[in-house]
Amino acid sequence: MNTRSFYLSWKSRKFSETQCYAVLFFLLIPASYLIIQLESGNRILFHGIVFSSGFTLFTFFEYIAHRFWMHGKEEKHPGKRLELHKHHHTHPTELKITASMRNCLLLANLILVAVACWLDNYFTLFTGFYSGFVGYCFMHVILHKRWAAKFFPALQVSHIHHHCKYPDRCFGICTTRWDQLFNTASPKEIKISERILQFYFGNHDH
Ligand SMILES: [Zn+2]
Ligand SMILES: [Zn+2]
Repeated sequence: MNTRSFYLSWKSRKFSETQCYAVLFFLLIPASYLIIQLESGNRILFHGIVFSSGFTLFTFFEYIAHRFWMHGKEEKHPGKRLELHKHHHTHPTELKITASMRNCLLLANLILVAVACWLDNYFTLFTGFYSGFVGYCFMHVILHKRWAAKFFPALQVSHIHHHCKYPDRCFGICTTRWDQLFNTASPKEIKISERILQFYFGNHDH
């Protein structure tokens, strides 16, 4: 098999949930090695890498949960969570997490950052993971605002595609990296029509 045919078979591959976990496992090996090497060195660098790892780990589970738990199991395991997600797809302007909920989550996040600084150990990993969750809650609502096109154009286009054209693609909210890695990103050349934008943003022009 030459390099090009290997690349094409990788690109056309449909990863199962188990295969995604296997890829994560192989990514965790060098990341863990790096973190252990840094532990006795610069503490700021160590905590920065550990925090980023926790945050990235959350984005992986965000991708898995959206792709495999909220989509694809509708017929086998109908449930309230799936219903809520389905509702958001048909009513994109409606989000169940309110502004006051998000502010509470953010407050808890600040407390966790303070605790992580005080503990100065691997608790930072959990803080990073939780920050990923809070980041997701804020990013999702931001991606439903027109002004987000200025700051997060690629993420917003990806989310519009997921809502309106490719419900079996574009699952990432905080990042499109996992979609790219697991071959679920949307085709780049697709244009978004005004009709789709009206449906996605509703009539509120903000
Ligand atoms: Zn969805
Ligand atoms: Zn959405």
